[in-house]
This record gives sequence, structure tokens and C-alpha cells, in this order.
Amino acid sequence: MSDDKDHLAAAGVNTRLAHIGNRPSEFHGFVNPPVVRASTVLFPTAAAMENRAQKYTYGTRGTPTTDALCEAIDALEGSAGTIIVPSGLAAVTVPLLGFLAAGDHALIVDSVYGPTRHFCNTMLKRLGVEVEYYEPAIGAGIESLMRPNTRLVHTEAPGSNTFEMQDIRAISEVAHRHDAVVTMDNTWATPIYFKPLDHGVDISVHASTKYPAGHSDILLGTVSANAAHWPRLHETMITLGICGAPEDSYLVLRGLRTMGVRLEHHSRSALALARWLESRDDVAAVLHPALESFSGHAIWKRDFSGASGVFSFVLKAEGAGKAKSHAFVDALRLFGIGWSWGGYESLAVPVYLGDRVIAKAPSEGPVIRLQVGLENVEDLQRDLEAGFAAAASVR
Ligand SMILES: *Cc1c(COP(=O)(O)O)cnc(C)c1O
Repeated sequence: MSDDKDHLAAAGVNTRLAHIGNRPSEFHGFVNPPVVRASTVLFPTAAAMENRAQKYTYGTRGTPTTDALCEAIDALEGSAGTIIVPSGLAAVTVPLLGFLAAGDHALIVDSVYGPTRHFCNTMLKRLGVEVEYYEPAIGAGIESLMRPNTRLVHTEAPGSNTFEMQDIRAISEVAHRHDAVVTMDNTWATPIYFKPLDHGVDISVHASTKYPAGHSDILLGTVSANAAHWPRLHETMITLGICGAPEDSYLVLRGLRTMGVRLEHHSRSALALARWLESRDDVAAVLHPALESFSGHAIWKRDFSGASGVFSFVLKAEGAGKAKSHAFVDALRLFGIGWSWGGYESLAVPVYLGDRVIAKAPSEGPVIRLQVGLENVEDLQRDLEAGFAAAASVR
């Protein structure tokens, strides 16, 4: 068996996940790479140090462990290079810092992950970047928002909590005509269900905390760039000194091995629950891109090859919306109340949408987001039934 990966190009996704990112022959045949903990790397001579004449030079610049994860992510994303950062949020903020400067104008989708909005409204503005939010469904209409100083368009599809889809290719084409960089937070789909770089995106961002880690116990992010944007992204990582830890990188690489089979289960259970929710009289709408009734369904169907296990629904409520949504999640025994998602266990959260400027909250009632875990779906449905009963008892 050799470390050569050429035969994987045409293989199925689970085959690739089982074989990417490892080089047993470099590590005495061990299947997995070692966890190399490092700050100092020794050089044989002063001249070698001066010329940095070896593959590894210092812990912040990568180790065999972080390289193994980067290689696996590059294989999945089709990217020229990947950096590892300590969280999913850092995976969004580091490229924004790297590609924007004072006087630039940045377009950010209004359905963006909440902490990304906070970063844009505080630090980016303080650094002199003009931030403007745009309607998620804008598509090629983004042309009307482009200014001579628009340097970056940030996308995220589906949107956080409300799952608006975006026409990524149309937006990328307009942005590139205006010399703007396109970044995408692709955490929901993972590169298994959507490959941003194939649709014109320059920089693909992922919270590995979610499905790649898969067990609610790791924080990590990856940022992957196409060839044109890799040198600047790499330079940004080196300049900021932001790097991911080897232990966490090892665990995310381990998580990738089962991500495909986990996602199939998450996906199937979530869609089954979404269809069941859609049939209920006490649900005003189900926000899940794979449902035919959902506004962004056509784009999802055209561009994505699957749906993961996170979606929301709107609880029908005339008044008392907050009390009903709290009663709903408080009554759940299997769905925990907590942030993040992508782990093996189910979660439910009342969604806050008060910071939206364009893509406002639905008027029919409160939005509840579900992360559907790996439990048996009949048990999850029974749990949600208890939630509906509790919500109905609130007047
Ligand atoms: C969770 C999440 C992040 C941030 O990931 P952390 O590792 O929790 O910082 C970024 N983007 C999206 C879309 C997310 O859901």
C-alpha cells in the first residue's frame, strides 16, 4: 500500500473520507498521524536556519498533525491551501482581517452567523471598513450594491437559524467582475454537500467544531483558499499567529473518517422530522432547504447534493410567543438546550433574530432551531410531541 492518493479522485465520498490526509509510510506504517506537540523545531546548522531550509520551522507554522488535517480538507474542498484556526468564529474573522483594509466596503449577508455580525459591527468598523448587509436572496442583483471600493462579499448558505439560500455562483460572478473577494461560511453543508470553490467562491470557511468534530467536545475552524488567494491567506495566518492545536486537529481528522455516515443519519432523521412538523397545525412554517415548500428549495436542489441535520420551525402563536417557545424547549428531555450543533446529541434553541436589518423574523410566531442528533428518530418525535403539548398549555 502506498501513500499515493491519485486513485481516490473518482472514489465515493466515504471512501475518500477513509483515506485522505494520512501517510502511513512516513510514520512507520501507523494508520494515523502522530500528535506532534511543538513550539521549537531544531535546525542542523545556522545556515539551514537562516534559509529556513526544511519543511517545518516553528510550531505556529504547522506540524505533521496539522498538515494531515489541512491535506484532508484540501482534498474535500478542492482548495490550494488550508489554514487551521482555534474556532469556527476565527475561521470567519481571520480572512476578513486578511483581505480588508481601512476605506474598503464589505457586503455581508443579513442571515449571517450572529457572532460574525458582531465582529463586523465592532472590530471591522473600528478598523475603518464600511459594512453593509444585503438580502440573502439578492443573487445577481448584488450588482446594484457594488461600489468602487467594494473589496469583499461574505456569503453563508443556508443562513444561520432561518436557512435562506443564496445563489452563490451569481453573486461570485458579479463580485469578481468588480475585483472583490468572495468568502463563504459553508458550515451547514460541509464540503460533502456543497463545494464552495466549484461555485466561484475564493475562500471557504468551516466551523470544524460542528460536523467534522461531531462530538461536542472540540473547537476548531478551517479556512481554505483557491490558488489566487492562498498566498495572502497563508500570510495572514503567519502574521496574526493564529493557529490550531495539534490535539484538536488530530481529533477533527479522526472525526472526518465517520462524518459521511453520520451526516447520512443526521440528514435522514432531520428531513423525516421536518416533514412531520410541516404536517402539524401548530406549526406555521418549517425552514428546511430540502422541503419543497421552502422558498430557497430550488437553489438548494440545483446546487447542493444533500442537507445536514439542522433546521428551524415557526411555532404558531398569537401572542405569548416567547413563553410558548420557552415552554416547548423546557419540556424536551432528549433535545438539550444549548448552542452549537453537529454533535451526536440533539439540541433545541429559541432563536433570536432581533439583530436582522433586512431578513427579518417571521411574524407568525417564535422560531425554534433543532439540531437533530443520532438518536432514534421515533424517540425524538415523541420528545417534540411533549414540547408541543407544553406550548399548547401556555395561554
Ligand atoms: C457555529 C458556527 C460558527 C462558529 O463556530 P465556533 O467553533 O463555535 O466558533 C461559524 N459559522 C457558523 C455558520 C456556525 O454555525
